[in-house]
Amino acid sequence: MDPALDRLPCGFLSFADDGRIVAVNASLCAMLGHERDELLAERHVQTLFSAGGRVFYQTHLFPLLKLQGEVEEIYLSLRSKEGEEVPFLLNGRRRENGGRFESECVLVRMRQRSHFETELLHAKKAAQKASRAKDEFMAALSHELRTPLTPVLMVATVMEMDPTLPEEARAQAAVIRRNAELEARLIDDLLDHTRIANGKLSLVPAPVDLHALLSHTAEIVKSEGTGKRVEIRFEKEAAEHHVEGDAARLQQVFWNVIKNAVKFTASGGEVRVVTSNDGEGRLVVRVTDTGIGIAPEALPHIFNAFEQGGISTRTFGGLGLGLAISRAIVNLHHGTILAESAGPGRGATFSVALKTLPVPAAPEAPVAPPPIMGPAGLRLLLVEDHDSTRDVLARILRRAGHEVLVAGTGAEAIKLARSAGNFDAMISDLGLPDQSGLDLIKAIRALQPAIPAIAMSGYGFEEDLRRAKAAGFTDYLVKPVSFNHLRALLDQVTRA
Ligand code: ADP
Repeated sequence: MDPALDRLPCGFLSFADDGRIVAVNASLCAMLGHERDELLAERHVQTLFSAGGRVFYQTHLFPLLKLQGEVEEIYLSLRSKEGEEVPFLLNGRRRENGGRFESECVLVRMRQRSHFETELLHAKKAAQKASRAKDEFMAALSHELRTPLTPVLMVATVMEMDPTLPEEARAQAAVIRRNAELEARLIDDLLDHTRIANGKLSLVPAPVDLHALLSHTAEIVKSEGTGKRVEIRFEKEAAEHHVEGDAARLQQVFWNVIKNAVKFTASGGEVRVVTSNDGEGRLVVRVTDTGIGIAPEALPHIFNAFEQGGISTRTFGGLGLGLAISRAIVNLHHGTILAESAGPGRGATFSVALKTLPVPAAPEAPVAPPPIMGPAGLRLLLVEDHDSTRDVLARILRRAGHEVLVAGTGAEAIKLARSAGNFDAMISDLGLPDQSGLDLIKAIRALQPAIPAIAMSGYGFEEDLRRAKAAGFTDYLVKPVSFNHLRALLDQVTRA
């Protein structure tokens, strides 16, 4: 052996195709605690490897050397004389030497790196665990925040519609309802933001008529009554106005943009919603307002989560999530959303471009809310452990002409299904104190197989929805449950 090889600060090893060790330098012998003569005496290279290293030698290292003549940056463990595993990085080359093939390898010890890698792996696992914990916390928080909103929203809706109440009381109930809805929407935004951050926002695409969707969205913005005189004007100029998309999510985008335009425009101002085709197969919706405008230095940041363009939050409210969520939704639709403004005080324009579809022959996804004329005279089983939600729901359902039997736990519900059986439908919370609603529906279906069942939960994740349906629920409502929505859903499931 060349003495220079012995002085190298790394290992050198050469072995023949039959595995016999031909040469090994002093450094490698020292690192592994072997005598050189001992290794050269008919020892097979595989005896140097750890158990995993031996398998790797047979399945990868040697086949690769034979196939491509060289290998680079192979990470493997050798075994010291004491049986300790020593990690190495190996580069090797196979070449002919006097009529037979030998593979010559340089081995760099990797103790430090493998230590860092282990640490990195631990850190990654800890970060993943923390991120999961954050998701779970967000889900639990939304659940806790939504639950008390359900009875508030329901009582307010019913009072607002009650003709026996004085006008003033009904107007006050409307204020309560609007604010509870606003609160629910803020919770939804936080949840959507978490979903987007985790890549869990999914779409349910179908052909959508964007003109119909825009009119409907503007109606919603108007009905939310900001108390301002801001006129919303439409110029529907696009000849092709159908897109493939998720109607509810697209509505969320335009609701955000139109609501912002109204919010940032003073009374007497105007919001114009103009649609056009760009000649390249896209529909462009431009929402232009005469409001406070956006400073050039703020423009690039307003689509980032929690950015509010340097505007004092206290003046206008909001979390600064609307545009971040809107951009994520538009991107999922392979579209673009842009903001322009000539500067403070000079209004702003938001434009959304989406690929158009030829006019569909199939029925479109409905953009209008379902009719709220519910069914009457049903026999219902209501399962809910939150006392005030249960009381209010039962009262409202009874007032709508239904017979309602209530249970606060899964066990009570099963008892009722046994003793008082034959319900027209069941409405059940998913988180019950003694069992999950998912288990309850299975038990109830064993007693009354075809019962239509609606699940209610404060968790609004798509996965929960899928799980509820998989367990046997006919449909699903996210709290806070609006009474009109419940009524429409009851109608739907009992008619089906
Ligand atoms: P939020 O409205 O809750 O603050 P958004 O994400 O919807 O959050 O908007 C982010 C920021 O973009 C707003 O705080 C505001 O500074 C700016 N912005 C959005 N729309 C307009 C508009 N039409 N006119 C002026 N500024 C706007």
